[in-house]
Amino acid sequence: MSKDIEIELEKLRGLRKLCHGPLAAMLVAFLLGFVLPESMEPFIKVVAFASVAAFFATFFYSFKINNFVCPRCGQRFHAKRSDGGWYSYNLFARKCKNCGLMLNGGNAHEHL
Ligand SMILES: [Zn+2]
Repeated sequence: MSKDIEIELEKLRGLRKLCHGPLAAMLVAFLLGFVLPESMEPFIKVVAFASVAAFFATFFYSFKINNFVCPRCGQRFHAKRSDGGWYSYNLFARKCKNCGLMLNGGNAHEHL
C-alpha cells in the first residue's frame, strides 16, 4: 500500500472513531435505561450526559468526514454524485463510494 494512502486512511479512521464513538455511547446509554434497574439511574444519566456532550464536542468533525477526499481517486470518500447531480451519502461506509478503496486499505494495491 502506498504510504500516502495508508496515512490518509489512518486519518479517516481516527476521525470516524472520534465522531462515531459518542453515537455508539448514546445508543448504549439509551439501551442501558431499559436493562438496568432504577437504582442505576444516576449512572445511566452520567453516561447519557457524557455521550451527548461528546457528540456536540465532535459534531463539527463530522463535516470533515463528509468532505474527506479519497486518497486514491480524489473524490469524496463517503459521497457519490449521480448523473442527475444529486449526492448519496453514507458516513458509515466501509469503502470509498467512488472507487471502492476499503477503509482498512485491504485493496489499496489494486489499480483503478
Ligand atoms: Zn476513491
